[in-house]
Amino acid sequence: MKCKMVRNRLDALLDGELPVAEVERMKAHLGECQGCRQELAARQQIADALSRLPPILAPNHFARRARRAFRSNLKRPGMAEWWQGLSMAMRSAVCGAALAGLLCGAVLGINVTASQVPGTGNLYQNFYASKGIYP
Ligand SMILES: [Zn+2]
Repeated sequence: MKCKMVRNRLDALLDGELPVAEVERMKAHLGECQGCRQELAARQQIADALSRLPPILAPNHFARRARRAFRSNLKRPGMAEWWQGLSMAMRSAVCGAALAGLLCGAVLGINVTASQVPGTGNLYQNFYASKGIYP
């Protein structure tokens, strides 16, 4: 084992959280490496000092106040969050669909007004159509 890997796992070793095979590998490394042994001793001193501290009790009504604070900070996703949640590909697809809908509407609108026969629309359409204007 390398020193970096051993040092990353020292706290787990002290807490008895490692499988037996890993404990054996770490012990073998610690037997050969003075630096890691010193680091283990330092962490053991810290753990011992922390274990001697008196227990910290939560104040009365802590749980109720914490739940209330948590709920008040919850946000409902708005349009901006919805948009930001989309990937760039999905944003492009949404923009493309909107643009295609806009173009379809414009083309259909032009075809409808251009194909009207004078005299078949309402009063204003007939007036403009009689003057050759198709708004
Ligand atoms: Zn080492």
